[in-house]
Amino acid sequence: MTELPLTGGCLCGGVRFEVAEPPIAASYCHCTRCQRRTGSAASVQVRIVPGSLRVTAGEELMRAYEPPDGYAKAFCSRCGSALWSRSPENSEALSVRMGAFDLDPEIRPSYRQFVAYAAPWEPIPDDGLPRFPERAQADAR
Ligand SMILES: [Zn+2]
Ligand SMILES: [Zn+2]
Repeated sequence: MTELPLTGGCLCGGVRFEVAEPPIAASYCHCTRCQRRTGSAASVQVRIVPGSLRVTAGEELMRAYEPPDGYAKAFCSRCGSALWSRSPENSEALSVRMGAFDLDPEIRPSYRQFVAYAAPWEPIPDDGLPRFPERAQADAR
């Protein structure tokens, strides 16, 4: 078992964070917004216990893109790394980008959402995970 807190950070190392509780769920998002944001076919993230994340370094480097109709996307302004999304209703409800963790967070994606918008140039793997054409229930992006 990976020890808590889970630690992570951005590419340049300026922003560092830790998560004190085991994450709740992980998922892939195939929406066009995630494609633009990441420059790739899908984004994978873990929903964490609200309030369990603490920024330990580089808070001044952090910025967020706040679309009028959805979750804010937090990133490092120095290297551009995606870090997490934040619920507009609850600023402590975050979904951390899985690649931002230092070590294996020991949770695996359990579904895929917005597959109706999946990139035509990359087939969705035949991994047996439930696929939702639109948003999966209770999900964050
Ligand atoms: Zn950075
Ligand atoms: Zn998405």
